[in-house]
Amino acid sequence: MSELDWDDPNYVEPTAQYSKSSYDSFNDKYERSVRRDYESGSRGRRGGEYEREYTSSSSRYDRERNRDNRESYSSKRRDTNYDNDAPRGDSFNESIQIGSDMIGRIIGRGGANITRLQNDYNVRINLDKANLLVEVSGSSKMNVTDAVNQIKKQTSDDDGGARRSYSGDAGGGSYNRSSSNRYDGGGGSGRNNFDFGPLRTYEIPQGGDLNAVIDWDAVNKKYVKTQAARLAKLPLLTKVFYKECPEVANLPQDEVERIRSENNNITVSHVFEAKEGETLPAIPNPVWQFEQCFAEYPDLLGEIQKQGFSKPSPIQSQAWPILLSGHDMIGIAQTGTGKTLAFLLPGMIHTEYQSTPRGTRGGANVLVLAPTRELALQIEMEVKKYSFRDMKAVCVYGGGSRKMQISDVERGAEIIICTPGRLNDLVQAKVIDVSTITYLVLDEADRMLDMGFEPQIRKVLLDVRPDRQTIMTSATWPPGVRRLAQSYMKNPMQVCVGSLDLAATHSVKQVIELLEDDKDKFTTLKTFVKQMTKTDKIIVFCGRKARADDLSSDLTIDGFETQCIHGNRDQIDREQAIADIKSGAVRILIATDVASRGLDIEDITHVINYDFPRNIEEYVHRVGRTGRAGRKGTSISYVTRTDWGMAKELITILEEAEQEVPEELRNMSKRFAAMKERRAAEGGGGRGGGGGGYGGRRDRY
Ligand code: AMP
Repeated sequence: MSELDWDDPNYVEPTAQYSKSSYDSFNDKYERSVRRDYESGSRGRRGGEYEREYTSSSSRYDRERNRDNRESYSSKRRDTNYDNDAPRGDSFNESIQIGSDMIGRIIGRGGANITRLQNDYNVRINLDKANLLVEVSGSSKMNVTDAVNQIKKQTSDDDGGARRSYSGDAGGGSYNRSSSNRYDGGGGSGRNNFDFGPLRTYEIPQGGDLNAVIDWDAVNKKYVKTQAARLAKLPLLTKVFYKECPEVANLPQDEVERIRSENNNITVSHVFEAKEGETLPAIPNPVWQFEQCFAEYPDLLGEIQKQGFSKPSPIQSQAWPILLSGHDMIGIAQTGTGKTLAFLLPGMIHTEYQSTPRGTRGGANVLVLAPTRELALQIEMEVKKYSFRDMKAVCVYGGGSRKMQISDVERGAEIIICTPGRLNDLVQAKVIDVSTITYLVLDEADRMLDMGFEPQIRKVLLDVRPDRQTIMTSATWPPGVRRLAQSYMKNPMQVCVGSLDLAATHSVKQVIELLEDDKDKFTTLKTFVKQMTKTDKIIVFCGRKARADDLSSDLTIDGFETQCIHGNRDQIDREQAIADIKSGAVRILIATDVASRGLDIEDITHVINYDFPRNIEEYVHRVGRTGRAGRKGTSISYVTRTDWGMAKELITILEEAEQEVPEELRNMSKRFAAMKERRAAEGGGGRGGGGGGYGGRRDRY
């Protein structure tokens, strides 16, 4: 038996003119265009940022994958992390004879074909080149037979779909490729195995514009047909789990409005107009008691009651009826509004009560995409609080151990929580199959777009079944988020809700300390930490990462145990910092604004704004880290002369929350206004060093 030869002379490489990268690029672009057209129902478009990103990331991935495969083949052991192929008990074998001209085709470019066959059919393939024999072995007879049939299909001369040749004109060069790396994978995986159709010869014009010679309409039609066939094979999807109780159904309209306005002024509307001939569904009334949504699900209701919440939060009161009715929804809501539970509980019900039994769906049903590892981990913790029918969640995020996350996923879970980059990585590696996802959440969509995740999100969404339920949360409603909603949601309803953090500023005692300079700040902080009681737990917010590090080491040198969290720290250290402050192992957390949103630690007694934040929204978020879960909290803000630009807005917040406003703060505000006026009169810009000048975003988080 011969080893696979990775430098197989029969493998036909692209000519110099059509280099590997242009070949990759063409294939990626071709497949993407077709699939995107399916989404948009339009003809193929070209170029664009996503395409460049897709191409480069998937090519890089392919390179890594091929390198990995090469290593694992040559050692005759296939244990690469990328592939879902733990050692198998290979009890079934079949061999087929092939012609010598078929060896290259079976191997595929860089081993791609043989890798796909092995992965898709879960078999092992050996190629005996001396005897021209392909041996297929595996633990399932059916898989072995299917793989053999697929190989026969690929190697038969009249297979039609297996080979396509591109021949250029005088200047174009030519190459053949096996298209078997795009074969129909038997309908099992539901991934991007699009059969590109019969043998065709394209005349590539000068300049290589393939769009000019490809019949996109035909390709589109075929793609739509293939996808329709794929959808027809998918298990039936149930999305409606809501029985509106009479007291909610019979609510007069003015009562509906009153409940919405008393609930933090929620507004709810359709986002897009109805398409021609379509009627938009009615927006369900809000609820005001947990039982009104979950009476039918007593064990879940019991879990909610265990948390001791008195009533649904504003977003929950409107989101639950919408989501349990199976509609797509956009929640314009910030962290701290109870948004996680708003999408989570309907997701759990959706997962539990499908007609196809839970264990037989081939993968997870709920996918939650979150922008940061912290948020992803926090969502995971929220899931774990509600033990419902032994439902499991896994959290996969960049920075965490890839190997461990892979084994977590392989152990099986109904809910996957992930950051977009790592999700893409694991989808490419076929560890995660998103075709089983029926309930999709894009949490903090605006932040994900801000962080440049749009290509990854769009890429992965192509493989999630289109009849899924889609939920998006976002603190803002910028054009990018709107576009995403337009592309991937069906008649979404939008629920807007004010931040509970803002409400929290009303229940937190807000103290302002006017100080001279940085030295004064350090002395004041030291006096404070010396007087901390055993039950006190504080977060000290700094304006810059370096400053957080300095403060942390200064306090440590002075004998105070601290933890520190900011964007430059390794993930493991960031997680440890949060774990330590949560458990009480340390009681002082020094942080940048990376921790100002979303961090949910119930017993923080004080927030100290060592450096005043650059904008008032951040102040509100920081203050909201204390006084949580019905407890009391205090925020102490050190304000120096350099913060005078923030004085006016700060006074507004303090007055709204009926807090004491120091006279000196009012004077600062007046002085700043006078300075602006003076500068305006002199023809200057009136810039006043609003927030102490911490510099750009990067060194702040
Ligand atoms: P989130 O906005 O999802 O980050 O939620 C913030 C916090 O609100 C979490 O600690 C939740 O446990 C809590 N929470 C969720 N729902 C409610 C509710 N109905 N009443 C009070 N707190 C809640």
